[in-house]
Amino acid sequence: MTGGSFSLRDRLWRDDRSAGAIVLRSAREVELIRDAGRIVALVLDALAAAVAPGLTTAELDALAERMIRAAGAVPTFKGYHGFPASICVSVNDEVVHGIPGDRRLAAGDIVSCDVGATLGGYIGDGARTFSLSPVPPETKRLLEVTEQSLQAGIAAAVSGARVGDISHAVQSVVEAAGFSVVRRFCGHGVGTSMHEEPQVPNHGPAGHGPRLRPGMVIAIEPMVCAGGYDVRVARNGWTVSTVDGSFAAHFEHTVALVVDGPPRILTLP
Ligand code: MG
Repeated sequence: MTGGSFSLRDRLWRDDRSAGAIVLRSAREVELIRDAGRIVALVLDALAAAVAPGLTTAELDALAERMIRAAGAVPTFKGYHGFPASICVSVNDEVVHGIPGDRRLAAGDIVSCDVGATLGGYIGDGARTFSLSPVPPETKRLLEVTEQSLQAGIAAAVSGARVGDISHAVQSVVEAAGFSVVRRFCGHGVGTSMHEEPQVPNHGPAGHGPRLRPGMVIAIEPMVCAGGYDVRVARNGWTVSTVDGSFAAHFEHTVALVVDGPPRILTLP
């Protein structure tokens, strides 16, 4: 699930001084987040295998909740600020925070599934967008570019760099491909709460923002639109859609910063 929406004021870059609430996790805590993240990955694998025309988004939610609970975890999103389901399912022009329901998936749809699992008090958060064939080449490219931008953001998440280096890496990949990146929602620190410091925007200048340090655990989650990046929130208070109706994709990993080199991805199977 994505971090709180930005007000214009919040978009101003924070420096190290105002980012005092960033928690550095011990090696043991990182392992606990990894245990939760593994469940997230296995659920996303199962959702990838399950998506098919005719299936409702509520059925995806039920599958995810069953798996999360069978693993001894709880679905992090359920009840979070009143969110009524276990996972977010966002279809086509829906970007994030879609509420599962009786909508039936159809060929040509893309469906973004965002999964959070809490195990022993520690949280993993991850998302992927799936497509239901046949989809046009441009839609396939949207998904590929979004995943590439996530990988670029992960590669930039090295200790000593700054949060803005991640943001810049994501934005560069997206815009070089002719797509746009959502400004209003962002990645975030994650650990014992779902949204911790720092915020991890998907756009902005390199070399700015809080310094990245070993032990930081963050969710990097580009939200990419085929058209413009303006989004609106539905009357249900949750579902975020593109204003221009263009399709949007969302990929997310929870990663742990290490001493040297790229971070450890905690939301892999
Ligand atoms: Mg998230």
